[in-house]
Formats: sequence, structure tokens, C-alpha cells
Amino acid sequence: MALLPVAEAIAQLRATATPACAVEAVPLVAALDRVLGESVISAVHVPPADNSAMDGYALRHADWPGPDQAMPVALRIAAGSAPGTLPPGTAARIFTGAELPAGADTVVMQEHTRSGDGTVVLEQLPASGGNVRPRGQDIAAGQEVLAPGVLLRPQELGLLASIGLSSVPVRRRLRVAIISNGDELIEPGESLAPGQIYNSNRYLLQGLMARWGFEVLDHGIASDDPARIEQVFAAAAASADVLISTGGVSVGEEDHVKGVVERLGELSLWKIAMKPGKPLAFGRVADTPFIGLPGNPASALVTALVIARPFLFDLQGRSGALVEPLPMPAAFSKTGSPRQEYLRVRREDGQLQRYHNQSSGVLLSACWGDGLAVQTPGQEIEPGTPLGWLPYERLY
Ligand code: AMP
Ligand code: MG
Repeated sequence: MALLPVAEAIAQLRATATPACAVEAVPLVAALDRVLGESVISAVHVPPADNSAMDGYALRHADWPGPDQAMPVALRIAAGSAPGTLPPGTAARIFTGAELPAGADTVVMQEHTRSGDGTVVLEQLPASGGNVRPRGQDIAAGQEVLAPGVLLRPQELGLLASIGLSSVPVRRRLRVAIISNGDELIEPGESLAPGQIYNSNRYLLQGLMARWGFEVLDHGIASDDPARIEQVFAAAAASADVLISTGGVSVGEEDHVKGVVERLGELSLWKIAMKPGKPLAFGRVADTPFIGLPGNPASALVTALVIARPFLFDLQGRSGALVEPLPMPAAFSKTGSPRQEYLRVRREDGQLQRYHNQSSGVLLSACWGDGLAVQTPGQEIEPGTPLGWLPYERLY
């Protein structure tokens, strides 16, 4: 069977994704790192009225008497006070952020003025409208300010506040069940018996799901026993929007996930043209979508970031599922391979260094590095060859 290209695998998965999370209203203070559920249209102008960008004097541009003539100062307007109306031929003392009085259209900065007793000389006049921030300059009423699917960062919270919203429509958090498969696994904190290893994928996946803002339903370790796996998978499917497991999806005799998922739903085993991470299972348990990641920790990490992430983002209703790698030159040589390789790399002096051991079991490669470099199928790498670089933080 021909290997499935990475982009094809991602596209096939995404084609089956239907948003799983309803929209709910949360207070603005609780909206950080949530996904916006609906388009936000501003009901107000920002700023709501013409206001001064400077400390200085506001006047009607046409009223300026020239650089030597004093004008009477008829008003004093601080930020926060109602501005009133400017009588013809007069100026208003005004401060940054204060609304312009009716009749004024221009502000002279204070550095270009000389004040007298109840009067001011405006030594220089900017163009009409100078030093004024017009109403609606930042945001016009009726304008869409945020599109559905965006992740709400601190700046988005500030923006939502600036248009007066105290409650935000966000998507319910995606509920992701995680399961670790393998008889050899025990939990950190226990002591290792012969044949055992510590379960690292559980914590790796917990971390990823938390970073992506999902709710984690952790089902712990399912042993390599079909009855136990079936029980755990059925329970997980009943409570989650999506199931993710690691391990047990190769075709070894002890890999029972395949049989169980086929009994409870349906399953495709994909051989993806990627390294690490060739075997990947995809299907559903009852009606809940299921992704079975490889057991080797570096493979689990890479397939979660590259293959599962776009699908999970679609289920969550979050935009930005696909991340474009940044071009960055290699500092090493490597021959081409038929599969797309995701090398654990680190940027040093504008070049990508790769960890000396790229084995799919070596998680230290990912901790040493700051991202993945994409080597496309057949690509020969020499020092200076531009690679696609995916810094981890862009994938979180
Ligand atoms: P499998 O996909 O079950 O054949 O596992 C492939 C390799 O990954 C084996 O060496 C497993 O021991 C290892 N492995 C599977 N699951 C985990 C896990 N949760 N933590 C650490 N290593 C694992
Ligand atoms: Mg196993």
C-alpha cells in the first residue's frame, strides 16, 4: 500500500470534523484563552467622539488670528468631562483624551503656545483636524472586530472591553478523553519492575490538551487486554467529544486497540508518509471520533502536533488549524528519505541544529529543541538548505 502523504492525511481527517462545541456566554473576565463562538460587531464608535491627541488648545481652524495674536480661552476641558460648545473666536484649554467641544476642529500642542491671563497665543497652527483623534477612528459602529474561531488573548479581551462588552460568546471547551495503552506502563512515582517503563505519553498529552484549552478526561492506562481496553474505550466514548490514545495500534499480536475499535465502531489504520509516526489509527468508537497515536513518545508528540491538532481545532471551532512553517536554513547535512521527516531541531544563530538522536523513542530530542523542521520527501539537506521550521509555541 502506498504511504499516505501528510497533507492528505490531515485533509482526510479534517473533512470528517464537525464542530462539537456549543456556544456559551461567559463573563469577560473568564474569557481568556477561550475560543470566540460568534462574530463580534461593535455597537459603538471607538473613540466615541472626536478627542484631543495632545495637551494643548482646541480651536476652530478658520478662527486662528495668526502667530502673534492672543485668543481668549473660553473653556477648560479635562479628560472625562463633557466638552460643551466653543464660542466663535475663542480657544479651549484641552488635555489628552478630552472630547473636543462643538465648534472646534483642531488642536495646537501646548509646546507651540504661550499662555497669558485668560488668553493664549497659538504660535503655530497645524492643518485642519491636526492633533485630533476622530470619532470612530479605531473602530466604527457596525464593524466586525473579531471573527468566530479566534483565541482570546489579552489584547482581544481589551478590545472587547473597549466596545463595552461584559459577556462574550465562546465555545464550550472540547472534551478530550486520553488513554494510554500498554501492559508495560506504570505511573511515575511507582517503582519499576522488570519489563516496565513509566507512562510518559499520558502527561505529554495532558499538557498538550491543556495548552490547547481543552478539557481533559484522563482514563489512565488500558492494559493490553482486549476486555479491559473495550471497557475503557466505551466509557471514554460516552463522556468525551473525541478519544485520543497512544500505543497499541501497530499490527503486533499485543496491539488490541484495532480489534476493540472495530467492534465498537470503525477504524482505519493509516500508514502515513511521515517520520516519526507512520502508524496512525483513525475511526470512531460508537459515534465519538477516535485517533490512535503511536506509542513511542517522540512519535506521539509529533503526530499529535502535526496530524491531530488541526482536527481537534476544527472540532473545537478554533481557527488557525494549519500552521505555515517559517523558512530557516539548516546547519547540517542529511540525505533525503521517501517520508516527510519532522526533525527535532533548535535554532542557533539563525540556523537549525538537529538533535543527534532522532529516534522516535527519544523524547529528550524535543526537550533539547525549540521546534520541528520539516524535511519534505526526497529533499537532500546541506548546510544552508532552507527548511520549514515549526517552533513549538506556534503549535500551542
Ligand atoms: P506500541 O505502539 O504499543 O507498539 O508502542 C511503541 C513503543 O512505545 C513501545 O516501546 C512502548 O513501550 C512505547 N510506549 C507506548 N506507550 C507509551 C507511553 N504511554 N509512555 C512511554 N512509552 C510508551
Ligand atoms: Mg504496546
